[in-house]
Amino acid sequence: MNPASGLVVVGAQWGDEGKGKLVDLYAAEADAVVRYQGGTNAGHTLVVDGRKTVLHLIPSGILHPGKRCVIGSGCVVDPVALAAEMDELAAAGVTVDPTRLLVSFAAPVILEVHKRLDHAREASAGAAKIGTTGRGIGPAYEDAVSRAAVRMGDLAAPERLRRRVEALLFEKNALLRAHGRPEVTPDEIIAALEPVRERLLPFLGDAGASLAALNADGGRILFEGAQGALLDVWHGTYPFVTSSSTVAGNAAVGAGVGPQLVTDVLGVTKAYATRVGSGPFTTELDDEVGALLRRVGREFGATTGRPRRCGWLDLPALRYAIRINGITRLAVTKLDVLRGIDPVRVCTHHAWRGQPYAVMPGVSDAWPESTPVYESLPGFTEDISAARTPADLPANARRLLAFIEAAVERPIELVSVGPGREENVRFAARTDGAP
Ligand code: GDP
Repeated sequence: MNPASGLVVVGAQWGDEGKGKLVDLYAAEADAVVRYQGGTNAGHTLVVDGRKTVLHLIPSGILHPGKRCVIGSGCVVDPVALAAEMDELAAAGVTVDPTRLLVSFAAPVILEVHKRLDHAREASAGAAKIGTTGRGIGPAYEDAVSRAAVRMGDLAAPERLRRRVEALLFEKNALLRAHGRPEVTPDEIIAALEPVRERLLPFLGDAGASLAALNADGGRILFEGAQGALLDVWHGTYPFVTSSSTVAGNAAVGAGVGPQLVTDVLGVTKAYATRVGSGPFTTELDDEVGALLRRVGREFGATTGRPRRCGWLDLPALRYAIRINGITRLAVTKLDVLRGIDPVRVCTHHAWRGQPYAVMPGVSDAWPESTPVYESLPGFTEDISAARTPADLPANARRLLAFIEAAVERPIELVSVGPGREENVRFAARTDGAP
């Protein structure tokens, strides 16, 4: 990364692309890593020195000593979960103190009542459920937009905190009643926060101001996306989306800086596709190949343990993600998982109402109707986990990567061939004028 640059690392699918590993890698070059949206529903799994760490809210940069980590006001923060994550990191030997982590005082707070409402709604929805993680994130964002949220800064002012909680519960309890659930009292909500309230105060500050000052000093900022482009609340497969805007354009908004601070966008995609929860997924495989991808790729949710739906890489969806994020270059993860699958299929078009579409039809409700059109490519049988340069990869693996690059017109700069920090094939920067 160049001085004063800002790189967004964004998921180009439905999340779980391996962004955590990529952010961890690129964090080595950055001065600060900032989360700009989402809450504890992110499940970044990092394997460093053979040790597995799952991060839900704290930026992946925390595993690099000396990097500043920031949770922007575009995130929703569960104070109890945040403190628990700090404890987990401490147990793994990573100290999280206010010199390392800054939490925006303007970030909306996830309260116990939000989690209860999340569960109540999913239970009432039955088969129509969205498949949320049940962490209260959606309800907390609703309160932010309806201007009713408790924010992190309120933790410093107990009387104001109580007033806000009381005002909030008036409507929240009506909703819980409607779902046949017991009401909650302000005392319960405040008591749940009390064990962590004082502890978190030293971490609170002005996230945007801190990042802007860093940028002015030539600092490099890594914006860490959570979930993926196709789960964006405005541009994803609505209504089966997350409750925040996941795309790169929201990075500056959620971090609290101007858009000029974002200078580049790296998109992360698996060599195949997965999706957790409900919603359209045209390239889904219900056969033994899907089962193989799930088993070999260990496709189970990092936060919830839910089995992920698996299928072939969807290039129209990837092109769509490239467009809505302004992705300039790609990282392809989990190529090693395709070992032994022959042929490997890649969806090049969607046929929708008899028409071939090279990009996703814009109306997401129409997506399930479309049928994928595939290109079959020869697979590879070699173990590629030790590959570090393109020449180490089997010809058929290189062919697949070249096919993807040509189809989406973006260069692949890194291919991940295993969960470990060092298990990557790096491609030389292109000189042919590609972005
Ligand atoms: P994220 O939320 O986008 O960071 O994705 P997850 O952490 O949910 O999923 C990525 C999972 O795949 C983690 O368990 C990683 O350790 C693992 N992983 C990442 N890259 C690779 C890879 O190239 N090959 C394999 N086999 N596993 C990988």
